[in-house]
Amino acid sequence: MRPPLLNPLFAPITSLPGVGPKQDKLFRYLLDRSETPRLVDLLLHLPVSVIDRRARPKIRDAVPGTVVTLEVTVDRHRPAPQGRSRAPHLVYASDDTGDVVLTYFRAQPGYVEKLLPVGEKRYVSGTAQMFDGTLQIVHPDRVVDEAGLALLSGIDPVYPLTEGLAVGSLRRAVAQALLKLPTLPEWTAPEVLRRCGFPPFAEVLERVHRPVELTDILPDGPFWSRLAYDELLAGQLALALVRAQLRRPAGTRNAGDGGLRAKIIDALPYALTASQQAAAAAIAEDLRQPVRMLRLLQGDVGSGKTVVALLAAAAVAEVGKQAALMAPTEILARQHFKTIAPLAAHAGLRVAILTGREKGKERREILAALASGEIHCLVGTHALIQDDVLFNDLALAVVDEQHRFGVRERLALTSKGAAVDVLVLSATPIPRTLVLSYFGDMDLSELREKPAGRQPIDTRAVPNSRLAEVMDAVGRALGAGKLVYWICPLVEESETVNLTDAEQRFESLKFRYGDRVGLVHGKMRGPDKDRVMAQFAAHEIGLLVATTVVEVGVDVPDATIMVIENAERFGLAQLHQLRGRIGRGSESSTCLLLYKEPLGEMSAARLRVIRETTDGFRIAEEDLKLRGEGDVLGTRQSGLPGYRIARPEVHAQLIAQARDEALQILKDNPKLKGERGEALRCLLYLFERDEALPLIGAG
Ligand code: ADP
Ligand code: MG
Repeated sequence: MRPPLLNPLFAPITSLPGVGPKQDKLFRYLLDRSETPRLVDLLLHLPVSVIDRRARPKIRDAVPGTVVTLEVTVDRHRPAPQGRSRAPHLVYASDDTGDVVLTYFRAQPGYVEKLLPVGEKRYVSGTAQMFDGTLQIVHPDRVVDEAGLALLSGIDPVYPLTEGLAVGSLRRAVAQALLKLPTLPEWTAPEVLRRCGFPPFAEVLERVHRPVELTDILPDGPFWSRLAYDELLAGQLALALVRAQLRRPAGTRNAGDGGLRAKIIDALPYALTASQQAAAAAIAEDLRQPVRMLRLLQGDVGSGKTVVALLAAAAVAEVGKQAALMAPTEILARQHFKTIAPLAAHAGLRVAILTGREKGKERREILAALASGEIHCLVGTHALIQDDVLFNDLALAVVDEQHRFGVRERLALTSKGAAVDVLVLSATPIPRTLVLSYFGDMDLSELREKPAGRQPIDTRAVPNSRLAEVMDAVGRALGAGKLVYWICPLVEESETVNLTDAEQRFESLKFRYGDRVGLVHGKMRGPDKDRVMAQFAAHEIGLLVATTVVEVGVDVPDATIMVIENAERFGLAQLHQLRGRIGRGSESSTCLLLYKEPLGEMSAARLRVIRETTDGFRIAEEDLKLRGEGDVLGTRQSGLPGYRIARPEVHAQLIAQARDEALQILKDNPKLKGERGEALRCLLYLFERDEALPLIGAG
């Protein structure tokens, strides 16, 4: 139940005087709501800039191009001549220093005369212009008398608008809504308010909508920041509440005695790195907890995430339960399967693969073995979430490269078991603050070190004009038995790939190097792709021309050279991912970034970063600086997904603070009881994060 205190804020905006059905529609559109917006929606629609009307010069001193408020006496009117409605209605006015012309186009007859009566004093505010040597204001924003001046705000907020909705209507509606604002209890802890210098909520709304200083509406100022914090706190609190409810049925645990894991570790041809061990231990601990796991395992390409995922799967198999590993592409799914299957076999675990390619009898058999519990770990693509894929007892869902999946797909997988633990693998390292906002309150494991014995990659940028040299060098490398990737960008980013670049390059390289050249691209059928990849891994072909299908996960440790054509077209994250295909074995590797001249500033900066470092976490941070957060995951979002006020580039610091406060609240007052609890419930309703409240009952 919503605290009754909030009722005035949840009244429809159509209850405001002057907001009728036509405006309702416009406001719905503006505020992005399917129903009539409430007053709270309006109040959380923040200004983007201000108009400063405080300049009060004499006419002589008015600076053209600036907003001024003039004190004038109206001298005479010159209405548009009869029958020439397109001519303006001019009003001549003056003060003791000069004249000004106020210009109105298409004015209602009589309107301007009433607004500016001859012989009277008026205050006129608008943008001053010089026209024919005379100062002029076209359509003054404000015309008021002495009494009106007292009410005129010196600084007007400017809002994002939608066509058909005048800023005046919006301002009037906001002013009305502010009058309805009830006194709300404080939900944020006093020490947070003190530390961050946050003013009270009501003062904040008042100040952003009626700025007193030009800086009042700045996103990093105290007023906007407080709202951003409130929004983030509501978000983090809701996530924490939901998570706290994700308890398993009493007594169930998803990790066993470690026996199977020990067998797998025994079978490894290498020793786990310290961060792999730490990640595996953290996961096992999560699996033993009475609360469901939600953990993100971040690690550069080649950092060895797969084996950590396998150990997690083995842990649940130790208690007779099943795991699923979902990858975004078929190549990747097959590769996981190839890595996992022999190791798993060593521990007596049965692993199967299910993609679009397993059909008919084969598929039926897999599904039967899955339903009976014979299969311990099922690896696959989207095919895993089909309705007829039923597990005996799914306990763990591992999702690789999760940002390539939608929320729906992830949920569809986790809903195939009871209280399924979730492990997300990502080779796109994201700064910690963003992890919180994108993935919610997830625990985080990072594989920061590369497996032992990895050689650094020598990365160079080479202009296209030296293509011939590069081709020669590739020829020498082929002669020496090396494996070379040659990457061509997709001209279009869509699925309907324009292949000409890759195909043409393939033809020209084949012309020179014959059968040692292969081609793989996203439009090829799965088995064909696999065949070419296998030939490459087996050294049957030495030069693989590829579109970005090799971007994710493909593992041919012997490959030591990569040429990336039109490297200036790739984003940092993608270049990093691509380059991660080499430098995986014990031999040193070379990456050549071919670029088209002239190089733009951003592209040059990207190529510089990629040359300087192979640390994905650093690259992600640089990427963030260069592009803004929206693109880190390849999604173009201006703000934080699901947040209206908080902005990652400005309020990143606040995300962690809000999370800390949310966790503290949950520790002190998990059922949100008492006065503070009531205040926090208000907060959740205000920011529409109340969906978790039914889980904890009334306050
Ligand atoms: P990614 O994190 O990109 O998924 P993979 O799990 O595919 O990385 O591992 C990349 C390669 O590194 C694989 O060939 C794997 O066998 C190998 N590998 C994983 N862990 C280690 C380790 N601790 N020492 C040596 N090689 C390892
Ligand atoms: Mg991988």
